[in-house]
Order: sequence, then C-alpha cells, then structure tokens
Amino acid sequence: MIRLVCASANPKKVEELARLLPIWVTLVPRPDSVGEVEETAPTLQGNAAIKAVEVANAVTGWAIADDTGLEVAAIGGEPGVRSARFAGEDADDASNRALLLQRMSGVVDRSARFRTVVALVDSKGEMHFLVGECAGTIASTERGDSGFGYDSLFIPHEGDGRTFAEMSAAEKDAISHRGRALAQLPELLSRLFGLKL
Ligand code: IMP
Repeated sequence: MIRLVCASANPKKVEELARLLPIWVTLVPRPDSVGEVEETAPTLQGNAAIKAVEVANAVTGWAIADDTGLEVAAIGGEPGVRSARFAGEDADDASNRALLLQRMSGVVDRSARFRTVVALVDSKGEMHFLVGECAGTIASTERGDSGFGYDSLFIPHEGDGRTFAEMSAAEKDAISHRGRALAQLPELLSRLFGLKL
C-alpha cells in the first residue's frame, strides 16, 4: 500500500481525488499543522508544486497536490490560474460562477477547457508532474447539483450536452481533466517503485 498525503483541504476535491486513485494507494488528509497554502505562482504547475512541497516538508513519505484552472477562450483564457479567486480574494464557488456568467453574457464563442496539473513529491524529495485537460463549452445558465466549483457551468465536448454537475461521479471521472491526469499515476508509481502492474 502506498500512502499519499493530500495538500487539499477542500472536501469535494479530496473525495474526487480519493476515488480516482488506484486501490493500492491510500490518500491521507492534510495534517492540521499545514494551513491553507498561498498560491502565489503565475502557473498551475507552479502552484501545484508550492502546495505539494509545503505538505512534503511537514510529513514523511509522499505528498500530492493538484491545481486546476478553467480557461475560457472568449475572455483571453481567464480565469485560468486565478480560477479560485476569480471574483476576488473572498470569492467562493457561487460568486465565481456568477461572475463568469456575467462576463459571458451575450458571448457566442463559449469554448473553454479545464486543465489540471498534479504535483507529487516522492520520499526522496523529487517532484513529478501529471497533466490532464478536458475541452468543452460554458453553459448559459447553471445546471445540476453534483460536483463543485464551475461544474454546473461546464459542458464537456465528450459528453451528451449535460454539464459535469448533471453527471454521475463515474461519468465525470471518465473524461475529466483530473481523471485524465490521475489515470497516469499507476504507471508513474509503478515505475518509481519498480512494481509490475
Ligand atoms: P484549485 O485547484 O483548488 O486551486 O481550484 C481552482 C478553482 O477551480 C476553484 O474555484 C475550484 O472550485 C475550481 N475547480 C477545481 N477543480 C474543478 C473541477 O473539477 N470542476 C469544477 N471546478 C473545479
């Protein structure tokens, strides 16, 4: 069994990460000694690395962090790396979605993509990255109650017109940015641990 200490304290994200990991990997919650880590880097990769290193410094063993951005073509790739703080420093998911709908009012090209960068710090302190993307469009109104963040506004191209928030967890996982990034984890871990899958 491999233990990965998770950098996120967002229960919805942790739940999603946990169900995307192979059964031989256990996700351990972030220790209380590590508070909310400031995401000061200009890129998703940089922020994922900051979060993973912060946790790795506080624990023994492995640390995992992910940073995700929603990139919307019509507004120059925003909110991107600022997705969590799109509506300001005190923003929450609802205010971020409301601002996105406002910015997209009357916009015809609604294409967008989610990008996730997963950073892993191994027991030797070495960093590894996994990247996943999911292309889609921004809905004109919120639809669905599942998921979190921008899910109720994102219609993946590979779906049937439903938003992520209208899909089951398994349906989202099969095509999502985070699902795609973490699908590469078994191969990475087995290579690093010298395991045969
Ligand atoms: P972070 O990776 O936790 O910094 O998330 C950045 C922003 O993207 C936050 O507003 C999250 O709620 C949102 N977000 C992250 N992952 C997802 C997802 O899978 N679906 C929808 N929104 C997400």
